[in-house]
Amino acid sequence: MEILDGKKVSENIRKDFEKRIKILKENGRNPNIAVLGIVGDDASGVYVKTIEKNCNKYGIDFTLKIANTEEEFKENFNSIKNDKNITAIMFQEPLPAGLLELIDEIPPEKDVEGIGINNKGKLFVGKKDALIPCTSKAVIETLSFYGIDLQGKKVVVVGRSNIVGKPLIPQLLEKNATVTVCHSKTKNLEQETKQADVIIMCIGKAKFLKKEYIKEGAVIVDVGINFENGKIVGDVDFEDIKEKAAGCTPVPGGIGTVTNSLLIDNIIKTSEYSLKK
Ligand code: NDP
Repeated sequence: MEILDGKKVSENIRKDFEKRIKILKENGRNPNIAVLGIVGDDASGVYVKTIEKNCNKYGIDFTLKIANTEEEFKENFNSIKNDKNITAIMFQEPLPAGLLELIDEIPPEKDVEGIGINNKGKLFVGKKDALIPCTSKAVIETLSFYGIDLQGKKVVVVGRSNIVGKPLIPQLLEKNATVTVCHSKTKNLEQETKQADVIIMCIGKAKFLKKEYIKEGAVIVDVGINFENGKIVGDVDFEDIKEKAAGCTPVPGGIGTVTNSLLIDNIIKTSEYSLKK
């Protein structure tokens, strides 16, 4: 089985970052991201720390504003929303429902995670300037990097969240795949996945996918990040499927790694858009 290593995909994505940032800076347009959160649950804290580290590496301005109250969060949001120097805005989730409503108020050109209604709409109708949710794009970039042609292939996506499963649908259709999306209410999941040339697992259940679920020679993309006995594992039982699958992304070192690079790519894009204005 071929291991579809995310580090190689990442290196390829990052190869022109320095050049793009240099052009932006020469034009007085520093890429600049503001991350807004609220005290309490910092489940995505590790992800945000990684983003900060990557921003420091490439000379991208990074600001983290953690509010003590919802009111303070709104104040922070209002102050950065129209700040011309901030090119990218990201919300550190989880957030209370009342604050999640603000996602659609992020100016579309600053919506670095592509989670607002405007970018989602653009993605669904195939507009090239859509900012695309990074993890879903990481799946497509990884398959493409390893030369896995999706045209006419049966692709089964397991998981239908707004940030991973759903944004995959238009991107897979764009590649001329035949797409099936499964979820927790799907009956006979095994029957669906067994027919798939490519399976994309994004459910958040440790080592869920076993060899009984796949056909010989299938390609598997493991988006899941789960903790088992203090170790990070994916949604795929890697050891179990490795004799049967043709290829699989590892966890860690797979889609998560590519996602981190695509987030930086999106930050640079927000700045490039601001230059065109
Ligand atoms: P959500 O919890 O938002 O969505 C999970 C989806 O999986 C839902 O659609 C749910 O169905 C479906 N599901 C759950 N259990 C089953 C099951 N037994 N059979 C079939 N479908 C099932 O998760 P996310 O999309 O946010 O994340 C999914 C995984 O990806 C997590 O492990 C997360 O940590 C990881 N992740 C990784 C990233 C990366 O960079 N690598 C980035 C983002 C997430 P239903 O809709 O019916 O409830």
